[in-house]
Amino acid sequence: MNNLLAVKDLHTYFHLRNGVVKAVEGVSIEVKQGEVVGIVGESGCGKSMTALSIMRLIQPPGRIEKGEIIFKGRDLLKMEDEELRKIRGSEISMIFQEPMTALNPVFTVGYQIEEVLKLHSELGKEERKSRVIEMMRKVGLPDPEKRYREYPHQLSGGMRQRVMIAMALIMNPSLVIADEPTTALDVTIQKQILELMKTLKREYDMSLIFITHDMGVVREISDRVYVMYAGKIVEEGSVEEIFENPLHPYTVGLLDSIPSVNIEDRKKPLKSIEGSVPDPANKPSGCPFHPRCEKAMDICRNVEPPLVKISETHFVRCHLYG
Ligand code: SF4
Repeated sequence: MNNLLAVKDLHTYFHLRNGVVKAVEGVSIEVKQGEVVGIVGESGCGKSMTALSIMRLIQPPGRIEKGEIIFKGRDLLKMEDEELRKIRGSEISMIFQEPMTALNPVFTVGYQIEEVLKLHSELGKEERKSRVIEMMRKVGLPDPEKRYREYPHQLSGGMRQRVMIAMALIMNPSLVIADEPTTALDVTIQKQILELMKTLKREYDMSLIFITHDMGVVREISDRVYVMYAGKIVEEGSVEEIFENPLHPYTVGLLDSIPSVNIEDRKKPLKSIEGSVPDPANKPSGCPFHPRCEKAMDICRNVEPPLVKISETHFVRCHLYG
């Protein structure tokens, strides 16, 4: 299967008065046609910065220092702004965590979804409206004709996220990047939105990058998984490899902090990873996970581990391997 997207050696830095923050450091990610790729890690690990870099939405003082973002054979980093604007929203779209900040409060939701069609298609007004209502129905918004005329504040959090999904899918993009799309929702609505995304992904045969801190969500939706820590990929593999044979101590820690599907195991208390994500402006030397790692050795404090190949699809960045 060919890659739809190949991010190669991406570096995104923020140049602040008191130093350089290396938010993304040498990230490489591949997404195949129709594949769901999960990017997982705690807040501050560089997941969202990776997503914003792919969309070329990094604002100053941040900038992409180096790397390639090859989408359908072309490097997005070398494209003119005008061409990129056409691709953004039509071929690649993004769903954000908090729809209330992504939606404009002074326009109706129908108007805002229709704007995407206005920008990227030649359709007339009536056709646009019927396409929007059809999409609103597809994402499970009840009474779409009525909702079309409503403002974001009149909808619940779950319904607003459905509006964001409708907006992201209305042009039938090849790639959707969803950044923590279910995090702000309660558990029942979270499940419904995940189910909806799985159904729509199949129906539209799109590829999906799903960013989350929640391993349970990753298992639910992904084909392949990238685990990020301190701006780098520390483990990557198929969903089976990551869940049945996790190698990096950080991945193991993330897995220990989710409730087990096994009823007996649920009686054991959940563990959390000691300590917190390092300040990206002041990362520890060697392996940046060493201050929190139960398996840390002397070498870990001084030498950064390389990414080691375990199988054709499984890679890990840790001195315990290779
Ligand atoms: Fe732990 Fe060392 Fe592996 Fe880092 S390299 S995860 S500190 S064992």
